[in-house]
Amino acid sequence: MSPRLVLSLTSDTLEGDLHILRRYQGLVDAAELRGDFLRPEELSSLHHFPARAGLPVILTIRRKRDGGRWRGAESERLRCLESALHGGYRYVDLEEDLPGQELAEAARAGGCTVIRSFHDPRGVPEDLSRRVRALARHPAELAKAAVTPRDTRDLVTLVRTALELREQPGERVLIAMGERGLFSRVLASRLGSGLTYCSAPELTAAAPGHLDPSRLVELYRLRSIDRGTLLCGVIGRPIAHSRSPEIHNRGYAALGLNAVYLPFLVDQIEAFLTLAELLGIHGLSVTMPFKQAVIPFLSEQDPRLAVIEACNTLVRRPAQADGGGWYGTNTDAEGFLEPIRRRAPEVLARPGRAAVIGAGGAARSVLYALSGAGVATLVLNRSPDKAAALGRRFGCEWGGLDGAGLSRLEHYSELIVQATGAGMEPQAEVDPLPAYRFRGTETLYELIYASEETPMLRRARTAGCRIISGFDMLVAQAREQFRLHTGRDYPQGLYD
Ligand code: NAP
Repeated sequence: MSPRLVLSLTSDTLEGDLHILRRYQGLVDAAELRGDFLRPEELSSLHHFPARAGLPVILTIRRKRDGGRWRGAESERLRCLESALHGGYRYVDLEEDLPGQELAEAARAGGCTVIRSFHDPRGVPEDLSRRVRALARHPAELAKAAVTPRDTRDLVTLVRTALELREQPGERVLIAMGERGLFSRVLASRLGSGLTYCSAPELTAAAPGHLDPSRLVELYRLRSIDRGTLLCGVIGRPIAHSRSPEIHNRGYAALGLNAVYLPFLVDQIEAFLTLAELLGIHGLSVTMPFKQAVIPFLSEQDPRLAVIEACNTLVRRPAQADGGGWYGTNTDAEGFLEPIRRRAPEVLARPGRAAVIGAGGAARSVLYALSGAGVATLVLNRSPDKAAALGRRFGCEWGGLDGAGLSRLEHYSELIVQATGAGMEPQAEVDPLPAYRFRGTETLYELIYASEETPMLRRARTAGCRIISGFDMLVAQAREQFRLHTGRDYPQGLYD
């Protein structure tokens, strides 16, 4: 069953909250009125809100120490909660350390369910399972824990707890706050959470990591996630900028597949692979900085990885097949070539000449692809020793980004591949090769895909060069990942 989707309302007036609620009413199942965001003069009207909302409403007045905004006296907060309860709230959120039972009993007497919550804005308690089990003081109370994972290991603790408690009686909600915990909001039903919270983009997010309801429902397919949903995702650090979730989820939707693809902000690769097993993740895309780090954990690998030394795709093998584990491969090399076949076919047909700027993981896949296609290649890098190592490995010329490198580049400039991190945050305004003057005859293949043009791409476009975008490569390599993850071809017409 899909979890009830709760829109947290954080306007400073009740009218403002109602206005936002009307906008998202068709998408969400309930609202959480956050009294701690309201102006003080609004608090006397709290009891009018449920009748006007048209949806079940949770009343929450969150203290500052729990991540909320309430700065007033505790006695005043309790008085507000109590006086509002007769207004028809479906739930009231009361903290685990609240003394006495009077408020909870008054709530129950009025048909209002108590959510007994604890919030840890700093970490995940070691004894999370015990804390959650001890929360509910009455069988009808819903236990809610919202914690803040500091790294991937904390997520393992959280997911282990959720899976252990999932089969036990009682309703509960377990949330990992912040970007690391995004999956806990989308996969709420898989983790045994009966509610999942979101915030409208027009308002301040009620808690770190809240998604907007449209993204949850439309992009992350919240309504269709069940125990049979195929789970896939992308791991990296940073990961928020990744467009892979959009590409894969649009593909699933177009084919009507019961699958979802999520971004995972990862700190430790080994801990993440434990997490992936716990969650039952089937397929992964791997991006910076884990393309090499993941290789020792593969139980089976594409032989090309021995040369490329960068793995960007994982597929989970079933336990009965060779003991299970992860199969690793690389779709970047083929994904890199596909846009050249369409946009600059002459480079591959003759074959022609190319220069690769950069000697990191992406450059390795590019050099593997170009050398396999017989293209004569020069690799230039800021640290020339790395260019030399790749030059020896792939049998191509190499150099630094200095005058000597630039002179060599003149002979390889038919296709220039920009494969450095310069031009991307935090180096958005950096040009890796400012001294190179584009003539307009070159094709620039800029691997970075950002909403803004990189400085080098801007110069090439101004000079009249043909441009190939890194986004085309991203889509091409994702199509192959999609096939490996789902066994289906990526649908035509979405990014053609
Ligand atoms: P990486 O392994 O960290 O390598 C980074 C490379 O950039 C190194 O060669 C580094 O030189 C160079 N570099 C960094 N800052 C520089 C600067 N200011 N000036 C000159 N060179 C600089 O990263 P990667 O995995 O290869 O990724 C490189 C880029 O390709 C990233 O922007 C990534 O987003 C993009 N990419 C795109 C796709 C796609 O599908 N479109 C796929 C993969 C990667 P040193 O060796 O001297 O440090």
